[in-house]
Amino acid sequence: FEFKPVDINSVISGLEDLFYRTVRENIEITVNKGDGLSPILGDVSQLEQVVMNLIVNASDAMPDGGKLILETSSIELDELYASSHLTAQPGSYLRLTVSDTGTGMDQETCEKIYEPFFTTKGELGTGLGLSTVYGIVKQHGGFINFYSEQGKGTTFHVYLPVSDSQD
Ligand code: ADP
Ligand code: MG
Repeated sequence: FEFKPVDINSVISGLEDLFYRTVRENIEITVNKGDGLSPILGDVSQLEQVVMNLIVNASDAMPDGGKLILETSSIELDELYASSHLTAQPGSYLRLTVSDTGTGMDQETCEKIYEPFFTTKGELGTGLGLSTVYGIVKQHGGFINFYSEQGKGTTFHVYLPVSDSQD
């Protein structure tokens, strides 16, 4: 990994062509880039993989179309909130949100999504997307959480510490 100050919104801009080509045509994509976000210390090509894996999964979850929202924002993690995430330190984070109106996941799937080779897509899946995402986010000192409701959709939040809180 090569860690440098990275503007996450530039990473997303650089990927936009790719993900408009990758996502199904019946999916409406909204990109909301937060204003004035602090840079994070990160590896651009690894962060690109995080974004793409989440987008491909969202697209796969909406075979009959739907809405995909990609959002960046900044968030302060206070002591209380941090304590509910064992690995998270309080401080300033960049939050990347990928939200879909797809199938959602059942309880068993929710428990296994980060396991390498776990897939519900049979031959079409590798089961490596989210385990890769998890590893990359961890390498960046961040963490992930998600909310999923069957028949309604799924939202993934990736939290990455901003560079001035990482020293
Ligand atoms: P793959 O996409 O190859 O199956 P992943 O590691 O990317 O592997 O995802 C593992 C599993 O997590 C998927 O097979 C799917 O069951 C579930 N999953 C991940 N993202 C979503 C999502 N946005 N909506 C519904 N299910 C999802
Ligand atoms: Mg995947």
